[in-house]
Amino acid sequence: MRKISNGVPLLVVGSVAFDSIKTPFGKANKTLGGSASYFSLAASYFVRPAVVAVVGEDFRSADEKKFLDRKINIQGLQKAKGKTFSWGGEYSFDLNSRVTKFLHLNVFEKFNPLLSPNHKNADYIFLGNIAPKLQLNVLKQIKNPKLIGLDTIDFWINTQKKALLQVLKLVNVFVINEEEARELTKEHNLLKAAKGIKGIMGIMGKKGLLIIKRGEYGLLMFNRDSSIFHLPGFPLEDVVDPTGAGDSFAGGMFGYLAKTRDLSTNNFKKACAVGSTMASFCVEDFGTKRLESLKAGDIAKRLKAFKNLTDF
Ligand code: AMP
Repeated sequence: MRKISNGVPLLVVGSVAFDSIKTPFGKANKTLGGSASYFSLAASYFVRPAVVAVVGEDFRSADEKKFLDRKINIQGLQKAKGKTFSWGGEYSFDLNSRVTKFLHLNVFEKFNPLLSPNHKNADYIFLGNIAPKLQLNVLKQIKNPKLIGLDTIDFWINTQKKALLQVLKLVNVFVINEEEARELTKEHNLLKAAKGIKGIMGIMGKKGLLIIKRGEYGLLMFNRDSSIFHLPGFPLEDVVDPTGAGDSFAGGMFGYLAKTRDLSTNNFKKACAVGSTMASFCVEDFGTKRLESLKAGDIAKRLKAFKNLTDF
């Protein structure tokens, strides 16, 4: 079927949150966060993404403006009775690990992600970190996607593992961090954990790939042809808040894929470098701040430096 011109090139369904974050370098209170926020802001430098999520009556117009300023389509951002999802996290000097201080699902408890006809026809879909039952619900509505990505977090591995395994069978690209990969498979060794996860992924996943994120140490990409690609993290002098790095990675990656519409293994590698570049910007300031006002030149310059770092 021919796509209508105002179609959605990239759809993300995920959380939009108020985050309270503490790191050794400072803190932020009730700042805009959530998987769909980081994802869409990072992707907005490549295509015009659409967000499907829910917020409460306390959601601020200043935060809505952050999406609109980046031309993100928020027609699917529902406003429900109650409070916006909120999450609190604290990091020690090892910024690779964090403790969740609180998590209030609030309006997410009753959220039903209803997709509009335009959303249903999106080519590239990303199921950001939300309840796996909701992710399944989205998958039932989409029509003819070219690529479906999935992310999750330890909270859902611990509370909705069965539903998560069901979603995993239906997606092409699974992005997970190393501790979660270990937790999901009960395997310490990442090669064995990757084998376990690829075994769970269905036929779509066998054609797709698995990305294990390793914080500042970069990522491992397990390809459909069983080859492995490794990318380091971009070395930074000043990391102040790692929150959202994974979602920004996925947003940059899927934004680039939706823009280039090339699903070759080589282009997936480039998309990973773009994703890692967007994540490197994200962690340089608290919350979504750094992702709100990047210049195309900033991104191109850092990508070039990234290429020089890994090319030999
Ligand atoms: P990341 O640092 O990439 O893992 O993403 C952190 C973001 O995920 C924060 O902005 C949180 O608001 C959001 N988040 C944390 N826990 C959950 C959860 N259980 N469901 C949905 N979003 C969450």
